[in-house]
Amino acid sequence: MDESLQPAWPAGWTRRHLLDLESLSREEIEILLDTALQMKKLTQGCRAKVPLLSGVTTANLFFENSTRTRLSFSLAARRLGADTVDFTASTSSVSKGESLLDTAKTILAMQVDSLIVRHRAPGAPYILADNLDCCVINAGDGPHEHPTQGLLDMLTIREHRPRFEDLTVALVGDIAHSRTARSNIWGLKKLGAHVIVCGPATLVSRQWEKFGVEVAHRLDDILPRCDVLNLLRIQFERQYTRPFPSVHEYALLYAMNRQRMERAKSDILIMAPGPINRGVEITPDVADGPQSVILDQVTNGLAVRMAVLWLTCRVAQQAAV
Ligand code: ASP
Repeated sequence: MDESLQPAWPAGWTRRHLLDLESLSREEIEILLDTALQMKKLTQGCRAKVPLLSGVTTANLFFENSTRTRLSFSLAARRLGADTVDFTASTSSVSKGESLLDTAKTILAMQVDSLIVRHRAPGAPYILADNLDCCVINAGDGPHEHPTQGLLDMLTIREHRPRFEDLTVALVGDIAHSRTARSNIWGLKKLGAHVIVCGPATLVSRQWEKFGVEVAHRLDDILPRCDVLNLLRIQFERQYTRPFPSVHEYALLYAMNRQRMERAKSDILIMAPGPINRGVEITPDVADGPQSVILDQVTNGLAVRMAVLWLTCRVAQQAAV
């Protein structure tokens, strides 16, 4: 392969799995972001192919719904020249009683090198990483973590505001049930940003202060100080009781709309992990407006996932030599 298409190998990267951002050092997060940026350049904005992983096979093992993450992992693998297969729980033998480990072992027996796992149970990817001889990437484990989402959010912020130490980033919405919130908190704190978690008291407890973040219950109070707003979806599928009287009331207090944009910094970045619920956490004019970087996040997701697949698979290949 043409050497100019080979990204420089980062000496500080030794991991074969990506399970969370909590256990990563600042240096490792920076390696992931720098490599993602290199991938973006090498593939002309995530468009072209570079055969960095030819001969490798990745499998998406998804036990929960997904649009962005699953497509993005598949495309990232293909951009790198890998083969990729898809597993969907509802159409598989899981519905016949097969366990998570047996399902994963069956897929691995087809000579798969990397498992990309989404599961409703927090910790499921750790079980696979502990018991199987392959790379494991966490694509969302219940409300726990979604590390590639955190990374793509940080990459998108860094493209606009390179110094995290100068930034106030607010995560707004259903913090209690959001894996995006957790991965963002760990990552952003390590890079030096000031993080605010904001939402109704039923979804944002004071206990979050223990993690070094500011807790707020009124968006209007914090809005003028924010450089970035990441508007999180209300995770109704994870809630056992309704945390606020009505969606309308939530939107009145927390939806980012035109009136609130007038009170925000003029260069504020508006982000959302998606899927977005127009009219609930964000109004259409703001979602499609000039400060929105929501679709840039999606493109950066490809770059981040190429970086994660390449770095983890290379460590596994080197260990096998
Ligand atoms: N797509 C993100 C996730 O899987 C956010 C969301 O679903 O609201 O966690």
